[in-house]
Amino acid sequence: MARHFDYFDDWKTEILECPKCGWKGTFEEGDVGYYEQLMDSSCPTCSYPNDPMLAIVSYPTHDEVEANLDKLSVRERSAYRQRKRHEQLWETYCLRRPEQLPDLEGDEITLIWDMEDVGDDSWTVIRHGDRVVWREPAWYECYPRFDAMLYLLKRKYGRRLVDVEPTCGSWGWLCGDRLASIRWVDGWRAKLRETTPEPEPEARSAPRRPWSRMNDFLRSLWHFFQR
Ligand SMILES: [Zn+2]
Repeated sequence: MARHFDYFDDWKTEILECPKCGWKGTFEEGDVGYYEQLMDSSCPTCSYPNDPMLAIVSYPTHDEVEANLDKLSVRERSAYRQRKRHEQLWETYCLRRPEQLPDLEGDEITLIWDMEDVGDDSWTVIRHGDRVVWREPAWYECYPRFDAMLYLLKRKYGRRLVDVEPTCGSWGWLCGDRLASIRWVDGWRAKLRETTPEPEPEARSAPRRPWSRMNDFLRSLWHFFQR
């Protein structure tokens, strides 16, 4: 039976033991796998798929991080503060209602989904020709925001809106490492061309919070340090 640790437990120093071969070592000396909600460590000497899973570490929630800020390294704390500031920017500038969008001329409207870096922050910029229609803070793999935005744009511009086209430079940030997210974005663009899309229920109540769980934060942190 694998040990289960919370993120701020002593999982880095606890010695784990393989019930099959007797190997002993720390979580990080084992064979570590990283997933959406957790990471796990399996015996590094037993061979796959018969290598026992020795321990699981759950990623923390925001509240758990707030309660354990002193346990973060200086670098983690600074990245956490930056992300929190970015969340506040999001709350201030995200598009919530179609009435916030400007009126546009033309029978067929194609909008461009672009990205801009301003200081430490990345922004999604929606353009019509040279005109900026909307700007809001972006986050890594923000493709779930794409359909929510499409719904609001369609509500404003109706059948005149024929496409929202991501620029080459914005695809990486919009879809990240996930191939499925490219299909997600293209699927929504195709629906938009056919007819007025019937959005997912959650897209109606925009916006979604960009980092509701700490695991999203850790993922973004990881990508932050890769930059
Ligand atoms: Zn083993």
